[in-house]
Amino acid sequence: MGNREFIERADQTFLRNYRPAPLVLTQGQGCRLEDVEGNRYLDLCAGIAVAAVGHGHPTLARAIAEQAGRLMHVSNLFYNDRAIELAEQVVARTAFDRVFFCNSGAEANEALIKLARRFHFEAGQPERVNLVSMERSFHGRSMGALSLTGQPKYHQGMAPLVGGIGHVPFGDLAALRAAVDERTAAVLLEPVQGEGGVVVPDDAYLRGVRELCDERGALLFFDEVQTGYGRTGKFLAREWSGVIPDACALAKGIAGGFPLGAIAVRETLADGLPPGTHATTYGGNPLACAAGLAVLEILDREGLVARSAERGAYLGGKLAELANKFDSVRDARGLGLLRGLQLAEGVDPISVLVRVREAGVLLSLAGGNVLRFSPPLCVSEEELDEGIAVVDAVLSKGA
Ligand SMILES: *Cc1c(COP(=O)(O)O)cnc(C)c1O
Repeated sequence: MGNREFIERADQTFLRNYRPAPLVLTQGQGCRLEDVEGNRYLDLCAGIAVAAVGHGHPTLARAIAEQAGRLMHVSNLFYNDRAIELAEQVVARTAFDRVFFCNSGAEANEALIKLARRFHFEAGQPERVNLVSMERSFHGRSMGALSLTGQPKYHQGMAPLVGGIGHVPFGDLAALRAAVDERTAAVLLEPVQGEGGVVVPDDAYLRGVRELCDERGALLFFDEVQTGYGRTGKFLAREWSGVIPDACALAKGIAGGFPLGAIAVRETLADGLPPGTHATTYGGNPLACAAGLAVLEILDREGLVARSAERGAYLGGKLAELANKFDSVRDARGLGLLRGLQLAEGVDPISVLVRVREAGVLLSLAGGNVLRFSPPLCVSEEELDEGIAVVDAVLSKGA
């Protein structure tokens, strides 16, 4: 049975909320994927910045298999050893002191919304209920996370949204200053906007946001779901600016493809969600945490955070060359192995994406017209060269 037959079956059974590429993928190794017909692809998308250690990594596969045979789930009515170990590891590698585990990026942001409100409630400031996030941001699809997301197209037909959430232009400190007041619980932003088109703000802006929040008594949260875990060449993207938010959201690369999310918070927020105020059945489940521990072991052993910085700089140089060479490219930008090639007006981004895919290279789109490169952090220079050559050839044929 080939791709087409499988897809016909999917058409009969799947809800129509996705528009996937016509590939039925069956296996992967490192940066290579294979479909049901045996066609091979170079994966420079990594399941949207998730498969950080590559596909089929034996250490990760073994850790999951062993843990599955030992203990998979006990709920938060009990402790489990793997969750304790993983929380210690996250704390040891970051500026944060405590961790709450959940299952996805959206769920991590939901926890941050509740933490922001309940923290101020506990602190005797129950009027601080509002949140400010950024235009063009992306924080997930559940109602709270969707309400934080600053993209009207995702809000269409979904009203009423969660109240008390406002959006200001990303990078505009004056606009933020006008929006944050004595009723603001928290400001939440991505240190690099991912889905919004790989937008890197000035370090000075992020420092200004931190100062403003301190001055007005608002919490500052970073959504590091896409940027965390080495993606930008540091363990967390916040390290580039030196800004320490009060908490951050993590997911995507955190368990290399196994569903896991988390928030990491500073000690000042330790009692922000008193017992009984928040919970999730699967959160911190030993199987997911074993995957999370294996990912950290691999990141260390293979030096993948430093490699992300190195290979990212290499990729950035190649993308800058494409931007110079082609009128159809407007801009090349990004940090580490989160990079974007913004196409010029009048170029059909989907046509470029499809032709690149038909030549065997998988990428994704961000911000409507940005070709996003978010490969596994183990990607080699040769693999990056191969991907660049394909994009070069497609753009050469006219966009
Ligand atoms: C992907 C993403 C999310 C949502 O994560 P899910 O696991 O899909 O819920 C939230 N924030 C950012 C920055 C993301 O990139």
